Formats: sequence, C-alpha cells, structure tokens
Amino acid sequence: MRRILVAGNWKLNGSLQSVRQLVADIKAGLGDLKADVAVCPPYVYIPEVAQLLKGSSLGYGAQDVSDQTAGAFTGEVSAPMLNDFGCKYAIVGHSERRSLYGEGDEFTARKFAAARKAGLIPILCVGELLEEREQGITEQVVSRQLDAVIQLEGVAALADAVIAYEPVWAIGTGKTASPQQAQDVHAFIRGKIAALDAAVAEKVQILYGGSVKGSNAAELFAMADIDGGLIGGASLAAEEFLTICRAG
Ligand code: PEP
Repeated sequence: MRRILVAGNWKLNGSLQSVRQLVADIKAGLGDLKADVAVCPPYVYIPEVAQLLKGSSLGYGAQDVSDQTAGAFTGEVSAPMLNDFGCKYAIVGHSERRSLYGEGDEFTARKFAAARKAGLIPILCVGELLEEREQGITEQVVSRQLDAVIQLEGVAALADAVIAYEPVWAIGTGKTASPQQAQDVHAFIRGKIAALDAAVAEKVQILYGGSVKGSNAAELFAMADIDGGLIGGASLAAEEFLTICRAG
C-alpha cells in the first residue's frame, strides 16, 4: 500500500516572518495525519525551516537543485548542500523551470540524478501544455519526459523517487484536472513503468499537481493511482494546506 504524500511548493513567496508563521501554523495543525507532509520553501529559508522543524514529522525539501556538485556555477545550489540542511526532497523539472528558464528533459534528468546521488528524493514533475492536450499528445509528452530519466538512471531509480503529474494548464490557473482525467494519466505513467519493472511501478508515488484545494483534494486522492499532491498556491495558507493534508 503506497502512502499519501502532500508536498507544498512555496515558489518565490514569503518573508522570514511569514515563513516562521506558516511553519508554526502547519505544525500546530498537523495532529496525527495519515499522510506524509512536506514543504519546499525558497532556498534561503531552508536553514530556518530546518531549525523550526527539528523533531517534527513534517519533512522539507528544495524547489530545485543543481545538476552539478561543486565548482564555478554561479547561483547554483548543489544536492550535497541541501543534504547538509536535512532536506529530504528536491523538486526537479517543474513546469515553471521548463518554460521560464528553458530547462529541458536531459537537463532535468541530470538534476534528478544529482539529487539521488546525494540521497535526496527527487520529485520529478511531468505534464503537458494545453495545446499538447488539445492535440491529443499528453501521453507522448509525459512519456518523453519520463524517458529522459529512465535512459540516464534506469527504471529502478524511480523506486526511490516521486513523480508529480502536473498538467501545465492546471497550474496556478484555478482549473483542476478532473479526478478521472488525472487518474487516466497516472495510470498511463504507472503502466509505462510497469512494462519495464512491475515492482518499481507498484512502489513509486505519483502525485497530482494543478490547482489542488481543500475542496477537491479528497476526490483526487481517492483515485487508484493518485498518491497525493504537489500543492502550489494552496500551500501558502496553513488552514487550506492542512485541509488538503487531511484528505490524504
Ligand atoms: C505547482 O506549482 O506545482 C502547483 C501545483 O501550483 P498550484 O497548486 O498553484 O496550481
């Protein structure tokens, strides 16, 4: 039985003060949740979040990670550095990295590899643009994005990873994929992995992301192949985020 994971992606939001408040409010409301919960703050707030979460079951991670380990790579943050601060996860290939910063499939796969090598759990984001869905090539797009990782790292690498299916047209738009639309793509992803390794397919957590809210989380998480959510906007409001976590 796969566990439910709810991960909050705070993106480029917050201040030291608001981060302290948000962490305190989430911690206070966690109770005895069944789901695993994590937050991904901006890099600079990770040391603070690490301090605040000492001894807590709430995990944390980074929103990105360098494909490099050390050297002349101005502005980059490596996976071993994230490890120094106790990060458990690193998001790679978020659609905003892909579309706004031109990060492609192979580059994302190298980030995935760097995260794993340092013992982090990569959260690999995949998903189609609206025009790709309208052209009926969702499966091709998701397949291509997954293949880059499988070719570089082998299918077994997915057993220690999380996949987040995030249709780009649903991210930050208020348009959520219907539970069935999401389930169809999740089942496709799991089936594709199963064709290579059934045990890995059974184990890998596949999260849904794209305008998940307290009001729609339960029906999404109830689908057979949806193992939780990657939450953007709704992870910035403690009560809303906790409602999503309780749906798991
Ligand atoms: C995201 O950016 O990963 C995301 C799912 O955002 P939102 O929940 O705001 O759509």
